[in-house]
Amino acid sequence: MSNTIDRAAAASLPPGQWVPPARVRVVVFDVVGTLVEPHPSVAVAYQQAGLRQRVACDAADIQRRFAQAWRQQELLDAAAVPSFATSQAREEERWRRIVEEVFAGAASLEQTAAIFAELWNHFGEPSSWRPVAAGQQMLQAALQAGAGVVLASNFDDRLLRLAKHLHPLTSAQEVFASSAIGWRKPAPEFFRWIEARLGCGPDELMLVGDNPLLDIAAATQAGWQAQAVA
Ligand SMILES: [Mg+2]
Repeated sequence: MSNTIDRAAAASLPPGQWVPPARVRVVVFDVVGTLVEPHPSVAVAYQQAGLRQRVACDAADIQRRFAQAWRQQELLDAAAVPSFATSQAREEERWRRIVEEVFAGAASLEQTAAIFAELWNHFGEPSSWRPVAAGQQMLQAALQAGAGVVLASNFDDRLLRLAKHLHPLTSAQEVFASSAIGWRKPAPEFFRWIEARLGCGPDELMLVGDNPLLDIAAATQAGWQAQAVA
């Protein structure tokens, strides 16, 4: 029986043949990089938003500055007391600061505010994203195996609208954004909150994600099973 395959064997299967281990009642999917990805890329979306405010930046430069600014915000969350607590306001602040860092020295305060507003709306639009094939296959496999499927993402309330309109997010039975949970991955509280909400023990849950630290290591640390999206 395919759904009784053991965990070690499941972990080594290619995505088209992957099935969740039999003990897993609910497969919890990360969203960005796992089920969907920005299209056009983040760097191109930022570049285009800049150009509409008459601010020209090199896409490779944007990519480098974005990665640096994103890491900086993660470090701020890690250093905060308590670590990795969040809210809708904190998530909005994160992205505002990242946009400010990316365009620092190139755009005026007014231009930066306009670019931020445009990008905030852009990434809330289903048309700004496209499915990730491997994650989509794993989601289908989880549904076919009779497991529950939910989304759990370091995201904000824009995720709810995306999940209503964007394939394959529309297949999820529940959608949990860190802004509503009050914690973001890798906080253990993020995982405890989902367990309580779903009424499941840690060993009945599996996280599928693309980030080795925020998804795989954090879920494993919380006592969940974890599977990297191929
Ligand atoms: Mg991800």
